[in-house]
Amino acid sequence: MPSAARYNHRVNLPGLRSLPCLLLTFFSLQLISCSAPQPQSLAITHVTVIDVTGAPAQPDSTVVIADSRITAVGPSSLLHIPGGTRVINASGKFLIPGLADMHVHLTGAGEPMGSREFILPLLIANGVTTVRDMGGSVTLLNQLRQEIASGNRIGPQIFFTGPYLDGDPPYFQPSIIVRNAQDAIAGVQQLKSDGVDFIKVQSRLQPAAYFAIADASRHAGMRYVGHVPDAISARVASQAGQSSIEHLTGVLLACSTREDELRRRQLAAPSPYGSVNQSLERLRIWQQDLLDSHSDEKAAQLFQTFVANHTWQVPTFPLLIHLAFLTPESDLAHDSRMKYVPAGVRKIWDTSRRESLANQGAAEFQMRRELAKRLLSVFKQMHAAGVPVMAGTDTSAPNVFPGFALHEDLYYFVQAGLTPLEALQAATVKPAEFLGRAAEQGTIAPGKRADLVLLNANPLDDIRNTQKIDAVIVNGKLLNRRDLDALLAKVAAFAASH
Ligand SMILES: [Zn+2]
Repeated sequence: MPSAARYNHRVNLPGLRSLPCLLLTFFSLQLISCSAPQPQSLAITHVTVIDVTGAPAQPDSTVVIADSRITAVGPSSLLHIPGGTRVINASGKFLIPGLADMHVHLTGAGEPMGSREFILPLLIANGVTTVRDMGGSVTLLNQLRQEIASGNRIGPQIFFTGPYLDGDPPYFQPSIIVRNAQDAIAGVQQLKSDGVDFIKVQSRLQPAAYFAIADASRHAGMRYVGHVPDAISARVASQAGQSSIEHLTGVLLACSTREDELRRRQLAAPSPYGSVNQSLERLRIWQQDLLDSHSDEKAAQLFQTFVANHTWQVPTFPLLIHLAFLTPESDLAHDSRMKYVPAGVRKIWDTSRRESLANQGAAEFQMRRELAKRLLSVFKQMHAAGVPVMAGTDTSAPNVFPGFALHEDLYYFVQAGLTPLEALQAATVKPAEFLGRAAEQGTIAPGKRADLVLLNANPLDDIRNTQKIDAVIVNGKLLNRRDLDALLAKVAAFAASH
């Protein structure tokens, strides 16, 4: 847990080592069936379509949906609507593709019921129709995927990594410990036969184990994603073939002219290191050195490396700002959305937040603000350099409200300097491309999966308008505002009793 001593020992980003991504099991075992509406033919008329390809918004359009697919898109005045189709007049509203959260942990929140009664409904109520699960139980994730695919449960499409590959001892469970090439080959083979979509690497991997995983993944035809391990440079991870880097791990360090020395200092730091105050001071000096030694030239070279190797970045700003770089003003302890968090989960969140805030003084909070600010500006620069980026939240981590946090992430993208369209792309067409599903999803066009979000205001005017949701269509099923409010009320009731 994040004691000052732990921070003292961290390498890339303070706090990331201590995130309790996996929460305890405490929910009772009960299966609650859900009232998923059946697929239907549907036409959304007189709507402004924002297909996120960069084409101009198309006012007064009609989108026709049948059998979970978009079948036609065109001007309302011209498009023929087949008889028997349910028509939704969406005049004055805006239609965007369903959103993707590319970093969640569905099986972390008090399984077996946590994701079903807490996370999944909040994702859907917020228009999140695709997720990439970045660490969890293959068995539970397969169950969830099956329930959703069979139509017995409303939920997003799930892509997942299963257990982490990590060093010894690993940070989180479930993990497979990898010490050498033999472990790497066995781990990757096992995960491949378990049907995972990606291999997830974690912070404690030693260089030899990490490179063995890169090799084993390549041979198995799998992509690997995750943290840049503490002992590896982000530049080297990109060259080795890591497909996505989470939380910008290792990025600031790889922009430093003193990268090797700063890494050595961190890896060599004894834990615990002296008194709490000594530890905090040591960390602060290290962080100040990190900020002061930033080189725009080295950063530009790093971003070129990312571009050349197609190394995607998923910064997970909600996690960074509301937990890793938590300050009194970024703390969401008293946020009204806490009513959706089951009491058992909230207790874990409280502990984590308290520990992150413990012993921190004005100087530490100021440093966290500076680091968060620097990460936003580096993110903007890497995006401008052409590095592919995606939205993600680390949902199930403390202070990260499932579903809602994705909209916060888009807001931070725009705060960093991206346009609202670029932010939207990072949660729609870009994830589709990353997942190899550009033909299937990510835009609004005939043949695509009918995952859509109907908004009451234009997100291109203000990205916060993605939160003004009138309806969500998930795999062809329409959930209007009343349905979404009912979902939210059900989560609040569950949270109050668990
Ligand atoms: Zn995570």
